[in-house]
Amino acid sequence: AKDAGRGTWRLFDPAMDRQLQDRRGLQRDIKSALREDQLFVEFQPVVALSTRSIVGLEALVRWEHPDRGIIPPGEFIEIAERSGLIGAITAFVLAESAALAAQLPGFMAIAVNLSPLHLREAWLVDQVSEIIQQAGVAPERIEFEVTETAVLETEGRTIDNLHRLRALGCRIAIDDFGTGYSSLATLSRFPFDRLKIDRSFINDLEHNAADAPIVKAMIDLSQTMGLRVTAEGVETERQAAILTLYQCNDIQGFLYSPPVRKAQVLQLFESGRTV
Ligand code: C2E
Ligand code: CA
Ligand code: CA
Ligand code: CA
Repeated sequence: AKDAGRGTWRLFDPAMDRQLQDRRGLQRDIKSALREDQLFVEFQPVVALSTRSIVGLEALVRWEHPDRGIIPPGEFIEIAERSGLIGAITAFVLAESAALAAQLPGFMAIAVNLSPLHLREAWLVDQVSEIIQQAGVAPERIEFEVTETAVLETEGRTIDNLHRLRALGCRIAIDDFGTGYSSLATLSRFPFDRLKIDRSFINDLEHNAADAPIVKAMIDLSQTMGLRVTAEGVETERQAAILTLYQCNDIQGFLYSPPVRKAQVLQLFESGRTV
């Protein structure tokens, strides 16, 4: 393979081979992950810029693999989708979120990420309704996050489900905004309550002069459309200051807190900490 050039050499790349085997291993293991209680949920606080106190949380799933340690969702959500397990995983994350919401003050909403695949399923809304009822929380306490790309590649069923979730009383957020090619005008056709600006824009806020006016325009237009705005991935006081100046509603990011386990959320709450 040495003399055959780069392309051929790549075919035998041991790193790629390992990756492929890793994927196969995970695909096999994920089938038992739920059954064996290896999945757990962390919650990341969302903080209102006006009061600098927690107004909500985002639920983020993790997998504690018996041999490999903690695996982030980026490495297994796609595998779960292909294995037909995403519905069961979302149901688990939603149940954990609703149970936590029941322990927190009534103004606190918990956001759950919805995979585009799951969003197309006819049974989604009945499943959601049942889990929320069982936990005994008001549907307003649950917000669903869907990515911009998911909505753009949308079919009738997806839009239908979004409207039905909203009719149920749940809130809907557009996630990772700015990474796709939709305009805010296109999005006005969908029933959104909140827009989350992707962290790539927030990252560059201090260094890339071109991004500041874009972020400001996103915030202004969203608010004109009646949406609340969350900036994702806020890591510095400087970013928070710029976002305050632009009158962004909420921030989420390491500046305030990384995602944490349920016990720590309850602690944060009792201490009434502000950032
Ligand atoms: P996301 O929805 O955009 O979630 C935010 C991600 O940014 C999380 O990564 C979070 O840990 C990370 N993050 C938060 N604050 C900061 C910060 O200040 N700086 C930086 N650099 N990163 C920050 P995580 O937990 O690895 O999740 C990755 C993605 O996996 C999520 O992106 C979401 O799309 C997906 N995901 C997570 N949980 C679920 C789930 O239950 N269901 C589905 N379908 N997808 C999920
Ligand atoms: Ca999200
Ligand atoms: Ca996001
Ligand atoms: Ca993201």
